[in-house]
Amino acid sequence: MVNNDAVNIYIAVAEKIKEGLEYTSQFGAVCPLCGQTRIRTYSSPKWKDGVKIRYHRCSNDSCLLNIFNLSVKSIEIAEN
Ligand SMILES: [Zn+2]
Repeated sequence: MVNNDAVNIYIAVAEKIKEGLEYTSQFGAVCPLCGQTRIRTYSSPKWKDGVKIRYHRCSNDSCLLNIFNLSVKSIEIAEN
């Protein structure tokens, strides 16, 4: 039997992982699964064409993102 809630959560998270999270100066990148703010950045390439990409992993021990060692991308767009 399929648990629809789990499927919906999975779809939402998969979409976030694919598209990338929004990076804000207030909260950094927010984990799409557990909601933890300012999740750890492990890679941060240089700004390119007014866009900064960062790669993150969640450090919350009980978060599936952490348990499965998944990374998420965040996108910050220059404000001017
Ligand atoms: Zn998390």
